[in-house]
Amino acid sequence: MATLEEYKSGAEIQWCPGCPNHLILKAVKSALVDLDLSPHEVCLVSGIGQAAKLPHYLECNFFNGLHGRALPVALGILAANPRLTTLVTTGEGDCYGEGGNHFIHTLRRNPNLTLIVHNNSFYALTKGQASPTTPLGEIRSLHPKGVPMPPLKVLEIAVIQGCGFVARGFAGDPEQLRGLIAEGVRHRGLSLIDVIQPCITWGKKPLDWYREKAVPLPAGYDSSDRFGALRAIGENERFYTGVLYRSPQKPVFGEAFHRLMNNVPLTGLEPPDEKTLREVLAPFCKRPPGSV
Ligand code: SF4
Repeated sequence: MATLEEYKSGAEIQWCPGCPNHLILKAVKSALVDLDLSPHEVCLVSGIGQAAKLPHYLECNFFNGLHGRALPVALGILAANPRLTTLVTTGEGDCYGEGGNHFIHTLRRNPNLTLIVHNNSFYALTKGQASPTTPLGEIRSLHPKGVPMPPLKVLEIAVIQGCGFVARGFAGDPEQLRGLIAEGVRHRGLSLIDVIQPCITWGKKPLDWYREKAVPLPAGYDSSDRFGALRAIGENERFYTGVLYRSPQKPVFGEAFHRLMNNVPLTGLEPPDEKTLREVLAPFCKRPPGSV
C-alpha cells in the first residue's frame, strides 16, 4: 500500500509561504496514494515556472524540461514505458503560452496522460507579466495600460476538440482537487485539469474573491453535454469546479504500438541484430541517381 511518507522528498520548497501551490502539491501526493501508486510507478514531467517546480518536491521519477516542452517529453516517456503513470504538472504560461502548440496537438492525439495546469493568470516566477489567461484590461508589469487582448479560452478549446476529461479545480479546495486528479489518472486518454491557483505575491485579487467565485458544479450537472459544458465554462459570475466535460471514448495515442510491443518498456525489448537493422535501413541509405 503506497503511503504519503514514501513520496516525501528532501528538497527545500522554494515557493512563498502560504502560496496555494503547497495545496496543489498536497492534492497530487494524496491522489497518488489514493490510487495506490508507489513512487517508482509514477513519472512527473514539467517545464519552467513556479508550478514546474512541483516534481522536485515529491520522491518519484521526474523530468523537468525546457520552457513549454513538458508535453512532448511526457509523450516520449509514455512511448518508451507505457507501464509508468505519467502526469504533467506545470503552469498556464508554460503550457498554454510557450507550449501552446504542443497543447493543441496533444488534445488531438489523446495520449494516456494527466495534465495538471496551475493557472494563476500570469508569469509569477518572473514577477507578474501577462500570460495567455490574463483577463482583458488587467494591469501587468509590461502592460501599464492593461492587457489589450482577451484571454485564451483553453477549456473551451479542450471541449471543442473533444478532450475526454476536462476539469477545473481550485487550489483552495485540495480535497476536491485530490479527487479530480485521481479520476483524471483513471481516465484512459488525455485528462486536463486546469487549477485556479491564486498568487498571493503578484495577484490583484484577495483569496476571498476566489473562494467566493470558485464553486462546485450544481447537482445534476450533465458532463456529457458539450454545449452545457461550454455554457458552464463561459459563466462570468463564477468559476465552476469539477468535471466539466467527458467525451465518449476515442482512440488513445500509442496504444496500438504498445499492444504490438506487449506493453513491454523499450528497455525490456531485445535490440534487433545488425543484419536486420541493415535491411530495414537499406532503402533509406540509397543515393538518388545523379547525386554525388
Ligand atoms: S510568486 Fe506567487 S505563485 Fe510564485 S510561489 Fe509566490 S505566491 Fe506562489
